Amino acid sequence: MSPPSDHDVCVIGGGVTGAGIARDLSLRGLSVLLLEKGDWGAGTTGGSSWMIHGGPRYLEFDWETTRLSTQDAGYIVSIARNLVYRVVFIIPVLPHDRNNIERMETAMEVYDRFQPLKKAHPHTRLTAEEALLAEPGLTRELIGAVTMEEWGVDPHRLVYANVEDAVAHGARAMNHTRVIDLIRDGGKVIGVRYRTADGAVSEARARVVVNASGPWSPEVSGMAGVPVKLRPAKGIHIVYPHRISNFSISAESIDGRDLLMVSHAGFTLLGTTDDDFYGDLDSVDILQDEVDYLLQAFERVFPSIRSYRPVRTTAAVRPTLYKWRRYEDELSRRYEVIDHAAQGVEGFVTIAGGKLSMYRLMAEQTSDAVCHKLGHQAKCTTATTALPGNESDMEPAAELARRCGIPALAAVKLQSRHGSRAEKVLDGARAGRLVCRCEPLTEAELAYAARREQVRTLADAFRRVGLAAGPCAGSACVMRAAEVIGRELGWSASQRFDAVREFVRGAWLGRAPVLARAGWAQEELAQGAMRGLIT
Ligand SMILES: Cc1cc2nc3c(=O)[nH]c(=O)nc-3n(C[C@H](O)[C@H](O)[C@H](O)COP(=O)(O)OP(=O)(O)OC[C@H]3O[C@@H](n4cnc5c(N)ncnc54)[C@H](O)[C@@H]3O)c2cc1C
Repeated sequence: MSPPSDHDVCVIGGGVTGAGIARDLSLRGLSVLLLEKGDWGAGTTGGSSWMIHGGPRYLEFDWETTRLSTQDAGYIVSIARNLVYRVVFIIPVLPHDRNNIERMETAMEVYDRFQPLKKAHPHTRLTAEEALLAEPGLTRELIGAVTMEEWGVDPHRLVYANVEDAVAHGARAMNHTRVIDLIRDGGKVIGVRYRTADGAVSEARARVVVNASGPWSPEVSGMAGVPVKLRPAKGIHIVYPHRISNFSISAESIDGRDLLMVSHAGFTLLGTTDDDFYGDLDSVDILQDEVDYLLQAFERVFPSIRSYRPVRTTAAVRPTLYKWRRYEDELSRRYEVIDHAAQGVEGFVTIAGGKLSMYRLMAEQTSDAVCHKLGHQAKCTTATTALPGNESDMEPAAELARRCGIPALAAVKLQSRHGSRAEKVLDGARAGRLVCRCEPLTEAELAYAARREQVRTLADAFRRVGLAAGPCAGSACVMRAAEVIGRELGWSASQRFDAVREFVRGAWLGRAPVLARAGWAQEELAQGAMRGLIT
C-alpha cells in the first residue's frame, strides 16, 4: 500500500455539490482531495434537466426552496456566463388542465417576484393565437398560454469548471477513483481508502471527510457506521439531437404532474419522471412505460412529438431528503448539512438533498461547517469569484472563428465550454479539423481534453467536450475520436478498439428504450457493421 498523504479535507463525490465544495474550500486556502468513482458530473448532476431554475412548482408547498434557488441561480449565472443560456418556456393551458389560465397566471405573477434574483424576465400571457404564432406545433385545442424564463446550463462543464478552479487553487482531484472505505481511529474518521482505475488501493488522511455523494450518501455514511436517510427518486429524459422548438414547452401528465420539453443549446430534453427508487444506483434501467408516459403527455400539447427521432435516454436518481407519505414530486428539495459528531462520529460531514440550481449555496454552507470544525476563519468567496473562462469578456465567436480558421458554430461551442480561454485550447495546425460531421468539435479541443481535462474514456469526452452529442450519436466519429485521444494517452490499437467497443455498448443501453420497430432493425445493422470493424 502506498504511504498515506495528508490533506485538510477529503471530499467524496465529484458531482456538482462535491466539486463546488472542493472549489470553495480551496479558495479559502485549505488543502483538498476530491475523489470521484466515475467521471466528473456523471452521476445525478449529468442526468438532470440541465436547468438553473427556481422551480415555480415548489411555490405551492416550499417557497423557501424557490427563494434560495433563484437567489443562488443569480450568483451562478454571473460566475459562469459562458455555461448558461436563457431558456424561454411556453406553458400552454388546455381544457380540463389542473390549472386554468387565471390560476396559471397568478402563479407566474408570484414567480415574477423571484425572477429578478436570477436576472430573468417576468412572464407574459398569450392568447391561443399568439401562442400558435410563436410555436405552430402546439395543439389547436389550447385556450391560452403563459411564458416563463429560466436558465439552461451544461452541468458537466459546470462541474468541471469547479474542479478546474479547485485544482488551480491547490486541490488534488481524481476521477475514476472509488472510495472503498473510511479509515477510523476509534470514533473519529481520519481518512479514506480508495481504489484507482488501474485497481491500485491507496489511503489518504484528512482532518475532515465530506460525504457529497448524492444518492450514494447512505452507502458512504454506512462506511462510518452512521445512517443518512434519503428518499431517492428516479427521473428519466428522452434526448433529441436538435431543437424541436425554439421554446421550451410544459405539459401536464396523465397523473397531473408538470413535465418539461427543454430546448437546450443544440438539443432537446423531454422529461421527467419522479418515482421512488429502490434499485441499484449503479445500474438504473429505463422502462418502455416511462418513455410512453412522457410521450403520452407531450402528444396532447405537441401532437407531432412521436414523429421526431430521439437519440438516447438518460436516467438519474434524486438525492431527496427522506419524508414519509407524500407524492414523490411534492417532496421538498431542501438540503441538510449533517455534522456526524452529534452521532458520535467526529471528522465526518454529509451534505444531502438539494438541487443543482443552489449547489453553490450548499457548498458554501458545507464549507462553513468544515471550516468551523477546523477553526479556519476564511470566508466564502464563490458568489463573486468568476469560474475559469469568465474572468474577462469573450470576443465575438465569428472573430475567433476567422482568426483560428474554424467554422463559426465550432467557435460558439468552444466558447460555450471554455469561455474567454477558448483560444488557448486550440493548437495551430490541427485546430480546424473537425472530429465529426454533425457535431462541430475540433480535434484540437478533444486532444486538449485528453491531455489537460482528465478524459480517460470516450464517454468522458462526451461529458467534457460533447463528443457524439450530435445526430450521429457517435457512429460517425467515435473511431476517429479514439485515435485522437489514443494519441494523447498512448493507447495501443487494441486499447482504441476496446474504448470504442465500451462506448458503443454504453450508447446502446441508453438508446434501446427509444427504438421503435424499424429502429431495432437499423440498430442491429449498425452494431453488426461496427463489430465487423472492430473485431
Ligand atoms: C431527472 C432529474 C432532473 C433534475 N433536474 C434538475 C434541474 O434541472 N435543476 C436542478 O437544479 N436540479 C435538478 N435535479 C436535481 C439535481 O440534479 C441534483 O440535486 C444534483 O445534481 C445532485 O448533485 P450531487 O453532486 O449532490 O450528486 P451527484 O451528481 O450524484 O454526485 C455524487 C457523486 O458521488 C460519486 N460517488 C458515489 N459514491 C462514491 C464513492 N464511494 N467514491 C467516490 N465517488 C462516489 C458518484 O459517482 C457521483 O458522481 C434533477 C434531478 C433528476 C434526477
